[in-house]
Amino acid sequence: MLRLGLNALAISKLKKSYGNKPALRGVSLTVEAGEIYGFLGPNGAGKTTTIRCIMDFMRPDGGEIKVLDSDAQKNSVAVKKLIGFLPADNQLYEKWTTRDHINFVTSIRGAANVDKLVKRLDLDPRKQVRHLSTGNKQKVGLILALLGDPKLLILDEPTRGLDPLLQHEIYAILKEYVAGGGTVFLSSHNLAEVEHICSNVGVLRAGEIVASKSMSEILAMNVHIVTASFRGDKKPADLKIVGAETISSANGHVVLKVRGDINPVIAKLAAYELADVEIAHAPLEEIFMEYYRGPS
Ligand code: ATP
Repeated sequence: MLRLGLNALAISKLKKSYGNKPALRGVSLTVEAGEIYGFLGPNGAGKTTTIRCIMDFMRPDGGEIKVLDSDAQKNSVAVKKLIGFLPADNQLYEKWTTRDHINFVTSIRGAANVDKLVKRLDLDPRKQVRHLSTGNKQKVGLILALLGDPKLLILDEPTRGLDPLLQHEIYAILKEYVAGGGTVFLSSHNLAEVEHICSNVGVLRAGEIVASKSMSEILAMNVHIVTASFRGDKKPADLKIVGAETISSANGHVVLKVRGDINPVIAKLAAYELADVEIAHAPLEEIFMEYYRGPS
């Protein structure tokens, strides 16, 4: 059983440039043992570069990475034994079957009984990889990542290419893995997925962590979308309200994004003759987009 509060992964001030172009500008984050951590960010933010550094596939220019208190660069071989890794681009041999892959990885990482998992994911282990769909290749990759009793799973877009039914099967497998004492660090573009399974998230933008929060903190963020339409002659020409951002405004119809208290906005709208008004919690996408886009 893992000690509560122990970090499965701790990244501190990680820096990496490609030539003179910085990809990571001092990334720090911690993943507590026993959690599913979502690593988010737009394309090119630096997620894969971070993962490559954790896996010691490339050396950072600065900073430190610890996996269960062990330095990922200095103790690279030992650390890799602790990690089950699913890369973004599947690295399977086209002519090998699923069984060949399992046997090969098992010979390196130790015996494992994954027959149940193969069955559960509805895979035919005798088929050559070149005959598998993208989703089925992804399933093989996940099974291989789970071999050898890893303490930390690092998954780069684990449900990419999978239909919703299978996505949910994967979520169930990950939850069981965590319930058994494992930790998951996953990168994803799928916000519904992140909401569904992650307890904490970190958002990376242009090589910097711009948000690091628990999922419940994100869901509790007070952001509303207010949609109003007006009638009569008195229509707001340019509705500028402190704390509200105009998303669209045309033909007596306005959509506002409101952060924090909605009362001043409602009071301002009430000065006009309203035909209709709707106040809704901003969808998760909208909240994440704030981080993705950055300050405007
Ligand atoms: P995506 O979601 O598209 O996979 P990402 O968040 O994983 O993106 P990275 O692939 O880590 O981002 O890329 C971070 C930055 O580094 C980008 O600007 C990218 O163009 C650049 N980059 C990545 N790999 C290389 C490389 N081998 N040589 C030069 N620049 C690179």
